Amino acid sequence: MQQSPLPPATEPAELIWRDGVPESATFGDVYFNREDGLAEVRHVFVGPSQLPERFRQVSAQGHFVIAESGFGTGLNFLAAWSEWMTQRPLDDNAVLHFVSVERYPLTRSDLVTALSHWPELRQLADELIELYPPLIKGTHRLVLAGGKIRLTLHFGEIADALQQLTFKADAWFLDGFTPSQNPEMWHRDVIDLVAQHSKTGTTLATFTSSGEVRRSLTDSGFSLMILPGFGYKRDMLAGQFSAMQPVKRTGLAEPVAIIGAGIAGTALAWNLANRGVSVLLIDQAPEPGSAASGNPQGALYVKLGVEYNTQTELAATALSFSQRFYGAWQSDFWHPTGLLQLASNPQEADRQRRFCERNNYPSDLMVPVDAIEASQIAGIPIRHPGLWFPGSGWLAPAEACARLTTHPRIKTQFDCQIASLQPCNNQWCIRTDRGEDLHAQSVVIAGGHEAAKLVPLPGELKLKPIRGQTTQLPEPLFNLPRTVICGSRYLNPGINGNATTGATFDLRDNNPTPTVASNQENLEALREMLPATSTSNAPDADQLEGRVAFRCTTHDYQPVAGLLQGSDGAPVDGLYLMTGLGSKGLAWAPLLAEYLGDVITDQPRCLSSRLAKPLETRRLYRT
Ligand code: SAM
Repeated sequence: MQQSPLPPATEPAELIWRDGVPESATFGDVYFNREDGLAEVRHVFVGPSQLPERFRQVSAQGHFVIAESGFGTGLNFLAAWSEWMTQRPLDDNAVLHFVSVERYPLTRSDLVTALSHWPELRQLADELIELYPPLIKGTHRLVLAGGKIRLTLHFGEIADALQQLTFKADAWFLDGFTPSQNPEMWHRDVIDLVAQHSKTGTTLATFTSSGEVRRSLTDSGFSLMILPGFGYKRDMLAGQFSAMQPVKRTGLAEPVAIIGAGIAGTALAWNLANRGVSVLLIDQAPEPGSAASGNPQGALYVKLGVEYNTQTELAATALSFSQRFYGAWQSDFWHPTGLLQLASNPQEADRQRRFCERNNYPSDLMVPVDAIEASQIAGIPIRHPGLWFPGSGWLAPAEACARLTTHPRIKTQFDCQIASLQPCNNQWCIRTDRGEDLHAQSVVIAGGHEAAKLVPLPGELKLKPIRGQTTQLPEPLFNLPRTVICGSRYLNPGINGNATTGATFDLRDNNPTPTVASNQENLEALREMLPATSTSNAPDADQLEGRVAFRCTTHDYQPVAGLLQGSDGAPVDGLYLMTGLGSKGLAWAPLLAEYLGDVITDQPRCLSSRLAKPLETRRLYRT
């Protein structure tokens, strides 16, 4: 038996390759049929689940959910994706969700070898391989085919996953290894959970026809048929959930108004528009990304805790999701230079030492480096060891916000102050200071610390603005690194002759104007952390440009995203909050936008219920 690795790594599958076909060393069974795995998938899953017909019936803004036990090589997933693309018009917004669980994920290189079998699926396989997440326990959302395909891939035990994930399946692919070799996958409790994630009419298909599986499925509410199996397998099962568990699928409540066009609001606007939802994006400034998201450069950065607890898992999930999200914008505003997090003082050195002892992150997400390696990576002398995040980097936040509003389904109302937000006739009415009334079915308040003023409920929200001033460093008056470096300050590589460093963290200062003192503070901190950046020509603080922004944080420094709940916990229909992203907004925004996009459109959630809990809004009320 393999030893469990330190968190958050998960054990990869141990494979034996025979004639190019992968077999599990743990379970002694093949991942797909030796003769023709793809024909088997179509025979066992695609055909009996009537996917072609059912895919065609999904409405233009609708979605279809396939859930699978055992992701393995992803062959079933690619077959379903390919079928979806065949059956759906090219220009619609319907989404195929595929929710799959895997206890022993294949490594990326094994995935490449396994999927090289299928030249006809090559393009899809390449996209999956490109976005395949680091092998970290927990839930990963992959957005593929421009958003038409959303894969929720949970690395962990099937029973845990099904207790934590939020979705209702339209079709189940039950695909563990053979029940005699893999009893946990077919356990009665697991089948009960399969039933809980089903509704009247949910279909099920599986290669096995074992008597015990049949009994469990029947007992938990499925009506089954025995069909001819594939190849040497005599029988297989297909069926339908017939117990009464209807699900009310509410139509999309459009338009959705989003107040605040910073990185949170624009990422959400893009996300919803991409799913076919019309969005009205409102901001008091004349342009998107004018406030906290308006710095010329921002680092994609999270601080991972020493303990791998819910908070750390949420941060790691946000980091890896945002790296995949921004990857699509490389030619626009995203600069994946990698990021070094330096142990630049004794406390941080001690923290990183404990962090490295207690955790095992996959090297595609994070690797510890010594000072020499750090210097080689950054291209400037560095005196401290640190953590290297090869997939991170920096982005131009205001450009990002501008690009994310360019979807044809997003209408914008900029330069628009909101006087009030009130419910009226089952809608929300947003009154502007020009006396105009804008109407929306749902409203998301994503206005940073200004959110508190807009919430139309009694009680004060625990949100606070924190002043941060950044400073522009001109090249070549400073020696600049080729990667982002974070420590007591962050420093970006130069772009167009300047690099941004910062930011100050001024808890009790609400001065919106840049000051020489704040520039000086940034310069001193930088000199202390990275003396090699200074040159003999380095200008003084009063000759440098600065920019002030106010980040919004919560009392517990964790973000908020979800349906607004009053201080009594009662939800407010159609009103959502997305704020408190603090100085990590660039890392939080893509994941929280994906999560809120799921919630608003009632699609499977990208976060487990355990990770979604700390985002809830109720905790913000002062008691
Ligand atoms: N659907 C896969 C494909 O398209 O390649 C093949 C799945 S393979 C037959 C069965 C998978 O179930 C293996 O990848 C195995 O690691 C996984 N598995 C077995 N026991 C599990 C458990 N208790 N929880 C989650 N996954 C499990």
